[in-house]
Amino acid sequence: MYKLAICGFGGIGFYHTTLIKNIESLSVKGVFDIKDERQKFALEQGFHAYDSYEDLLNDSEVDVVLVSTPNDSHKELSIKALKAHRNVICEKPVVMTRADYLDIVKVAKEVNKFFIVHQNRRWDEDFLIVRNIIEKNMIGDVFHIESRVLGASGIPGDWRKKKEQGGGMLLDWGVHLIDQLLLIKKEKIASLYLRPSYILSEEVDDGFVAHINFEDGFTIHVEVQTTNTIMLPRWYVKGTLGTAKIDDWSNKGEIIVTKDRFLKHNSKPIKAGQGLTKTMAPLETEQLIIEKLPEPYFYHASFYDHIVAVLDGKEEPIIKEDEVARVLNVLEKLFISGQENRIIKDIE
Ligand code: NAD
Repeated sequence: MYKLAICGFGGIGFYHTTLIKNIESLSVKGVFDIKDERQKFALEQGFHAYDSYEDLLNDSEVDVVLVSTPNDSHKELSIKALKAHRNVICEKPVVMTRADYLDIVKVAKEVNKFFIVHQNRRWDEDFLIVRNIIEKNMIGDVFHIESRVLGASGIPGDWRKKKEQGGGMLLDWGVHLIDQLLLIKKEKIASLYLRPSYILSEEVDDGFVAHINFEDGFTIHVEVQTTNTIMLPRWYVKGTLGTAKIDDWSNKGEIIVTKDRFLKHNSKPIKAGQGLTKTMAPLETEQLIIEKLPEPYFYHASFYDHIVAVLDGKEEPIIKEDEVARVLNVLEKLFISGQENRIIKDIE
């Protein structure tokens, strides 16, 4: 039985314990949080509460440390755990810059322990359905993806509103969505542009729209907002034969395909508003095929099944160093684009 200890027992720290409950050969040994109320909550949940982080790191039974504190503390806490010869799982965004991430990776290599970032949304079914739509060529050659998460509750909590703590939505949600999209698109990025939103805060972005353009012509629109009461689809994907849409995390959506799109349509003009249009006339039903969304693409068994396999020496970490570094590089360039209101080229 492997033992994991948690540093930072807030919302996600506790969520990890619910995931680990289902894993046969891994259990949570204990918790350390700087807040007394969270230490008390850990005891109520039946976990040991360490007196300090040093106390946690001195527990020789601990194989893995989970760092699930606010973003600005990840680097220091992760390096301390690695230097104490513990494997480390760190919450996203792992750090705010690629250079800081590579510093941690260097220490992990020196002590020969793993350092794995919890990019859990690689396992989201909506994303894996999109991967399968692309993999199975269901809408022809995909050339454009729109990935959105929209809410109406503003920036949550306390530290997420603070710049020095790594707050804002580009770091909070952007890191998930860009990680997903760059798993799909390995080709070289030609340019990118960020339009951040500061409706609710001047200090950190409460949302953003990012455009990422690839050298092969593929385009991505990534959007996170916290000020929307009417939602847009979670995914909107265009291919040369049709369009796919997934509405939300319930995975409802549709695929509409036409075999001769862009080529042979000779639509009749329709009255639209105060004019006539042939271009925007809907296709006839007989020109369309409505398909069901496919099953999700199989990525891997759960995150913690994978961690156990890595501890057993049966698998290499699937969340790879170069993938995490690429996402952080893109985030850094997006921040510059947003600050300077310009398109950035020479990204990678
Ligand atoms: P939170 O505010 O709910 O919890 C953070 C906890 O860390 C708090 O209880 C705080 O007291 C504690 N803490 C702060 N500094 C500490 C320190 N030096 N030592 C020990 N404890 C300390 O925040 P959260 O929503 O749980 O987010 C924590 C991290 O998890 C962030 O990096 C966030 O981005 C990430 N997160 C990831 C996901 C995901 O889906 N992967 C979801 C939510 C949050």
